[in-house]
Amino acid sequence: MSDLTDTIAAIATAPGAGGIGVIRVSGPGSLSIAQHITGVTPQPRHARYCSFMDSEGVVLDRGLVLYFMAPASYTGEDVVEFHGHGGQVVLNLLLRQTLALGARMARPGEFTERAFLNGKLDLLQAEAVADLINSKSEYAARSARRSLDGDFSRAVSDIRERIIAIQVFVEGALDFPEEEIDFIARSDIEERAGACITLLEELLENARGGRVLNEGLRVVIIGRPNVGKSSILNRLTGSDRAIVTELPGTTRDVIEDSIVVQGVFVNVVDTAGIHVTENPVEREGIRRSRAEIERSDVVLLVMESGRDLPAELEELRALIPASRQVILVENKIDVHAQPPSRGTDNGCPRIALSAKTGDGMDLLQAALRHCAGLTDVMDTPLLARTRHIRALEQARARLQQGLHNYREDHAAELFAEELRRAQHCLGEITGEFTAEALLGEIFAKFCIGK
Ligand code: GDP
Repeated sequence: MSDLTDTIAAIATAPGAGGIGVIRVSGPGSLSIAQHITGVTPQPRHARYCSFMDSEGVVLDRGLVLYFMAPASYTGEDVVEFHGHGGQVVLNLLLRQTLALGARMARPGEFTERAFLNGKLDLLQAEAVADLINSKSEYAARSARRSLDGDFSRAVSDIRERIIAIQVFVEGALDFPEEEIDFIARSDIEERAGACITLLEELLENARGGRVLNEGLRVVIIGRPNVGKSSILNRLTGSDRAIVTELPGTTRDVIEDSIVVQGVFVNVVDTAGIHVTENPVEREGIRRSRAEIERSDVVLLVMESGRDLPAELEELRALIPASRQVILVENKIDVHAQPPSRGTDNGCPRIALSAKTGDGMDLLQAALRHCAGLTDVMDTPLLARTRHIRALEQARARLQQGLHNYREDHAAELFAEELRRAQHCLGEITGEFTAEALLGEIFAKFCIGK
């Protein structure tokens, strides 16, 4: 964890040559470092053009110095930025000078970590900073912006406060004999707990869409050899990476590609043709296909137009975990001059298309977007991570369990305990209670200078 008494410095702009480059310094020594380097005392929030000098007064560069006085800064501490020329050598010279004047090199994400520790951002917002920087599509960037603005945090805190209010009531009631808790109060409390569960479910639905935007949707393509899996992958990615041949069983290895489908970042995995064979290379392929299905969010089961799903794929379909979404793809409709279409088959969407002509690929793209939990009418979702989804799910489970205990057995003590756990789960999302190890892990994934 950070020692907030020292002063940290880093190059804040991306490596490489650029028009300008920024050195950022944060901590109690920032202003004195700026005075030594520039020979002037910068006014807070005023850009001032000056020379940047080393200890001998040799000019290293000239540029703007900006001073943000604590607490009105990104980190909540005194912050100084030197905007010089964007070359690595000149920036390193300047950085070295800040270190010579008492700063130390910042760790990745340390500026944001300090902002978190100083209460400038909560943990959700701090994560949104990294997610905004790393966002893989415009849509994801917009969602990250919403989380950074605090929309997600507010939704979580609102539910948490409601739970605390119920907890206070239930714990208070524990001090009285059972018969004194009147019936009206009991049903009111049950109703309020039920409302919290509904709110959690709504938030979960939104966050799931946001998780996919952030981490990407993992799609695996399976089917018998030669049905056109590689061709579909190529159509989706718009490249010729997967090898397409007339020989069954050519895609023996797993091929993976990342694409943005209508604003959603998608990892598509093309597996070896799945069929029972004595050929050891293909057997290995089948094993890996199964493993890929385990790791995926969506399974594309590909078959040839005019044919039913072959028995072995039906078998495989039975093995696909219930949480995976399945899209049936009927490829090669051009062979029978069939039009593209979208229907359902045993509850799964079934898309008829041609990877050769491209007809119906838009239907597949729309189906993938739908799997991501994103519909056309949906507002921008809240960018979320798997960690948030897990915590929301746990909070919901705790509430459901507690409410059950209360309803069935009038077990107020158990209910109070579950309420406490539920609100703790929510507090972990925003960082009220978060293990140091987790904090370290979250900030270590940031870039240097952020
Ligand atoms: P995979 O083994 O399932 O990956 O299949 P490929 O993508 O390698 O395709 C096998 C063969 O089917 C190739 O000759 C492709 O050109 C052909 N093919 C793929 N998609 C279509 C399609 O939509 N229509 C037609 N007529 N042929 C296709």
